[in-house]
Amino acid sequence: MNQRQLFQQHVAPTSPEPMALPITKAEGVYLYDDTGKAYIDLIGGISVCNVGHRHPKVVQAIKDQANQYLHVMVYGEVIQSPQVQYAHLLSQHLPTSLDCVYFTNSGAEAVEGAMKLAKRYTGRNEIIACHYSYHGSTQGALSLLGDEYFRNAYRPLLPQVKHIYHNNFESLDQITEQTACIILETVQAEGGVLAPSAEWMHALRTKCTETGTLLILDEIQVGFGRCGTLWGFEQYGIVPDVLLLGKALGGGMPLGAFISSNEIMKCLSHNPVLGHITTFGGHPVSCAAGKAAMEALLEEHMVTAVRDKEALFLKLLQHPRILNINSRGLMMAVRFSGFDEVQQVIKGCLEEGLFTDWFLFASDSIRIVPPLTISPDEITEACTRLIRVLDKL
Ligand code: PMP
Repeated sequence: MNQRQLFQQHVAPTSPEPMALPITKAEGVYLYDDTGKAYIDLIGGISVCNVGHRHPKVVQAIKDQANQYLHVMVYGEVIQSPQVQYAHLLSQHLPTSLDCVYFTNSGAEAVEGAMKLAKRYTGRNEIIACHYSYHGSTQGALSLLGDEYFRNAYRPLLPQVKHIYHNNFESLDQITEQTACIILETVQAEGGVLAPSAEWMHALRTKCTETGTLLILDEIQVGFGRCGTLWGFEQYGIVPDVLLLGKALGGGMPLGAFISSNEIMKCLSHNPVLGHITTFGGHPVSCAAGKAAMEALLEEHMVTAVRDKEALFLKLLQHPRILNINSRGLMMAVRFSGFDEVQQVIKGCLEEGLFTDWFLFASDSIRIVPPLTISPDEITEACTRLIRVLDKL
């Protein structure tokens, strides 16, 4: 059997028709297939590869840590320098109330941990999430998911989860002294890059403070400069009680985190002890890689160029077939007439050497979420190819 047949037979499928592009190498903003063809990566591993594929500092940090130790002990028991150093670096770039980091394996596990934390800290059990939100695929995170089609097949879900709409001020009345937490993406990614208004975010923050409800912001896609500031919440002038990170957090290695104050976080350590435990969460190689990626992001000033790069994309992406573009920094949803057209565009892009896909709850839009390191020349080349694809439709 060839590689494709082995893939189809042995690698569990997630959709009937996966892209099945045989990747042999990735470097910077490029992916390479088994014929040596190069693709400009407009997805960045879905908001993972913010510093580009295989940034040399990340690769070096992985090698160095592999030479020291791999897994030694479950999370939280022994002092592992990569975890300590990375938690310290993160806290230096976060508000002082977000100074305690719990590293997990994935984004979904960070969501699970944060929900448990909110229940323990508040002694309440009601949770509020938003329509069109995506927080992960585990049973608890799925209960938060803001789309009936994707969650309905897995009932019963977590009880006492309510959904509200962004920017709806009346819905904030649902946040009461029974509510443990509200959890939302600072900018909804899979909804097609939907950013709530600053007024609503401020009202939300106030309501949470008044009712003692924890405000949990999911920046698993938004974090690490994606939207033009290091963290998305900076653009709103609010601070969450709990911040969720993942994806770019590991610099290409698997890593998630829920971050809060030491005071809130310590309630997971007693009565009962071991409130959240994980074998591999905060793996030393993932933490070493993530720390190196964050240092590269900061040292090479990758975040400051994001808004200019966004503007260049928006200037060049003009075509009668493009109905509109929702964008927040280098996170863009380019909307077409529907899913059929989107599929044709994605296929045409692959032929042209451009790698893109669609959004879970915005299947009429293609995703442009490239490594932040994409250069103006690469942006110009990517847009020229995309326009060529649209001209041929
Ligand atoms: N939150 C958001 C906003 C996400 O986009 C994702 C993943 N796409 C998750 C949580 C879950 O992360 P993971 O796939 O690492 O479990």
